Amino acid sequence: MPPDIRTNRLSREEIARNFSELHPPLSRSEALIEADRCYFCFDAPCTTACPTGIDIPLFIQKIRSDNLRGSAHTILAENIMGGMCARVCPTEVLCEEACVRNTHEDKPVEIGLLQRYATDPVLDDHVQLFSRAAASGHRVAVVGGGPAGLSCAHRLAMLGHNVTLFDREEKLGGLNEYGIAAYKTVGDFAQREIRYILSIGGIEVNSGVTLGEDISITRLRDEYDAVFLGVGLAGVHRLGIEGEELPGVESAVEYIADLRQATDKGELPVGRRVVVIGGGMTAIDVAVQSKRLGAEQVDIVYRRGFDQMGASDYEKRLAKTSGVMIHTFARPLKILGREHASGVLFERTDRDEYGSLADTGETYTLDADVVFKAIGQRLRDGVLEDGSIRMQTGKILVDDNHATSLAGVWAGGDCVLGGDDLTVTAVQHGKVAAIAIDDFLRTRESGHG
Ligand SMILES: Cc1cc2nc3c(=O)[nH]c(=O)nc-3n(C[C@H](O)[C@H](O)[C@H](O)COP(=O)(O)OP(=O)(O)OC[C@H]3O[C@@H](n4cnc5c(N)ncnc54)[C@H](O)[C@@H]3O)c2cc1C
Ligand code: SF4
Repeated sequence: MPPDIRTNRLSREEIARNFSELHPPLSRSEALIEADRCYFCFDAPCTTACPTGIDIPLFIQKIRSDNLRGSAHTILAENIMGGMCARVCPTEVLCEEACVRNTHEDKPVEIGLLQRYATDPVLDDHVQLFSRAAASGHRVAVVGGGPAGLSCAHRLAMLGHNVTLFDREEKLGGLNEYGIAAYKTVGDFAQREIRYILSIGGIEVNSGVTLGEDISITRLRDEYDAVFLGVGLAGVHRLGIEGEELPGVESAVEYIADLRQATDKGELPVGRRVVVIGGGMTAIDVAVQSKRLGAEQVDIVYRRGFDQMGASDYEKRLAKTSGVMIHTFARPLKILGREHASGVLFERTDRDEYGSLADTGETYTLDADVVFKAIGQRLRDGVLEDGSIRMQTGKILVDDNHATSLAGVWAGGDCVLGGDDLTVTAVQHGKVAAIAIDDFLRTRESGHG
């Protein structure tokens, strides 16, 4: 049987409906009612749970008094991507999980939606809330224009430094532009937010420039006063099983990037039966989006249990309510098919007496027209000069200030060890590194370094 993969499985209207915004914005009256639910807790556990430390009760208080610019300033001063994070943060495991309203009413204050309510007008009207400090005369190279690099560049520019931002892609944004599910951030929000970030001035963008090919860390260290690496994890892990090279076996991240860039989503080829291997946010996103493009049967298969999946409970619920089947405790043994993938042979796994994952010997097959690999990403080969920077398990080692083992080089976001692969965490890394770089440059300038 030839594989059943085709375009336009659904009508234009159905696709538009399926990819409409997941959480529509609050109206003014809804926002005021929601803001009134906040207790303005003195110890604000929500703020402690926010990786960027936004003063949440303060921004909600400002919404109550209709001071939306002030509210946006409170948010963006800590997290310049507060608009994107309002859309994509898994708030149910961050600020909203910590909200004390959960214990009183079983329902947190809708912090994410309030954050969007406060920040959208500033971005829509392009209101500049930040200014630059006096020019320091220092030049900093930032490699990677994703959340980590953009956050670092913006903070450095605010602190008076001149930044050159390099990215291998023509479009900045990293996974905000190429990865986040289309129904979480509709339209061109990622690019609008980037235009806002760059409008502070002092950031020169060099796109289409690849570290490891067109530029090297050695050269950047020679030419700039400091270097920040926010290169993410652009390489894809291999399954390492027979049949992996067959047509029809695809990288989930690449498919999602194509989907995000498609002007007509219906033109993207979709399999009738789709099998996704993995258990994180990428697995859920490619599965849900395949379903929304018209795939009939979509199965996610994860080697451990439901609770160990990297995706949040909300994401897992979204997959189930979208009609995706989730199978746990199975690992792929072989991709089946001769000229094209036609299915996957799995072996059931289980926990042994020590709690480790063990094979059971029992196998089963799932038919597939397309198989997506969503088992995580890794640093691309050749980005760093061999041995130049200390690494652990394929990621860059940094200290609390995000300094690497190489003097004058800082790093943050997905490419460093200890992150949790969230946009908000990458933004915080970039901010922390920028403050540390500023401190380093000023200490050196004063002759105390
Ligand atoms: C499919 C998917 C869905 C996701 N959904 C969510 C979500 O809903 N919510 C959430 O919070 N997080 C989500 N994430 C995670 C989030 O997108 C990342 O944690 C975040 O983007 C990391 O930011 P970063 O700046 O470290 O890296 P990236 O966003 O990967 O940006 C890295 C940048 O560096 C550039 N670059 C790479 N190599 C080079 C080089 N050699 N030279 C020059 N430039 C280079 C890239 O082009 C890119 O612009 C998702 C991730 C994926 C893969
Ligand atoms: S924990 Fe909830 S109620 Fe308390 S300040 Fe934060 S948002 Fe308001």
